Amino acid sequence: MKYLTEFRDGKLASKLAEQIRRSVTRRWTIMEVCGGQTHSLIRHGIDQILAESVELIHGPGCPVCVTPIELIDRALAIAALPEVTLCSFGDMLRVPGSATDLFAVKSRGADVRVVYSPLDALRLAREQPARQVVFFGVGFETTAPANAMAIVQAKRLGLRNFSMLVSHVLVPPAIEAIAASPTNRVQAFLAAGHVCTVMGIEQYLPLAQRYRLPIVIAGFEPLDLLEAIRRAVVQLEAGRAEVENAYARVVEPRGNRTAQAMLAEVFEPTDRTWRGIGMIPQSGWRLRPAYRDFDAEYRFAVGAIRSTESPLCKSGEVLQGLLKPHQCPAFGQQCTPRTPLGATMVSSEGACAAYFNYGRLVQLGTPPATASTAATAATASAATNPRSSEVAKVTGVGR
Ligand code: SF4
Repeated sequence: MKYLTEFRDGKLASKLAEQIRRSVTRRWTIMEVCGGQTHSLIRHGIDQILAESVELIHGPGCPVCVTPIELIDRALAIAALPEVTLCSFGDMLRVPGSATDLFAVKSRGADVRVVYSPLDALRLAREQPARQVVFFGVGFETTAPANAMAIVQAKRLGLRNFSMLVSHVLVPPAIEAIAASPTNRVQAFLAAGHVCTVMGIEQYLPLAQRYRLPIVIAGFEPLDLLEAIRRAVVQLEAGRAEVENAYARVVEPRGNRTAQAMLAEVFEPTDRTWRGIGMIPQSGWRLRPAYRDFDAEYRFAVGAIRSTESPLCKSGEVLQGLLKPHQCPAFGQQCTPRTPLGATMVSSEGACAAYFNYGRLVQLGTPPATASTAATAATASAATNPRSSEVAKVTGVGR
């Protein structure tokens, strides 16, 4: 790869879309697991140009969105403690807990800081030995190695004032939960390329076989996604259910063994509750007993908190692909990025935020039949959000 723009080439995108349209004998339902992929698909209008051939439904792969509200409430309670500096990635600050969010707690005087790496939080702990520095460690298998590294480093340095509030979730158990659900409509999955860069692709082989579902490892640029969809459609039409790597320029089949060793050293599997979805067995990581001193949930007694979700929020159905964001009655009404009721409207990977930010404010009704009707749809979106027209040019949708 020389330039990222090579993977946004409009002519090649049109050719791939045409290949997909020509190869289908029926409309297939494919789920992209990762929220980053959702944003790319919506931003570039790929769901619209393929609407007659493929229904793309959006999966639960947004770590901010699935962090359970109980843990957000615990983070809020820890952040309010006078001796604590709570560090987090930026989009966690606006995620609503039961009554408030980290921004509001910060505005009331709490020491809440946005950092770009757990190592930034580690540095703060070294610089401020009198304060307890807590890092809110949220993410899938992608962010976990850096968090594991920070914990190992903290232990090596003997830091007594650093801890982590851990909310790590894992992709394969989530795919299995969706595939095994009686309400499942997914016929093929696009797996998250960055997760496979760390973990490899072997974990997906038994899932594809057990549920007879193609799983294609996909990247994030328009051509990556179109190629992965094309491969999934070819498998579906042929009645095959295999794991394919359509992101081979990045993903090694066995993943990153050094990162895996670091993860195995620091974390162990545990049952995890996913916000809006519920408990998925063995779908998360927690710190191993050898590192428990660095677990903020053990260090701070804030466990007994009663959490309540907004009764209007349907993010659980959105995260399972049962509802499109603009089908939620609160979408764009009571719930906007400025007044979010659920995490999926806040996160940079949330499906509701993608629909809002790229102008999918209304349901367009009948799927566009051709590229030209998709262009009309893109133009309609652009009327409400100028960024959509910018995006449509990239893939040639608006031409
Ligand atoms: S639009 Fe808002 S209320 Fe509706 S599901 Fe999304 S986050 Fe929840």
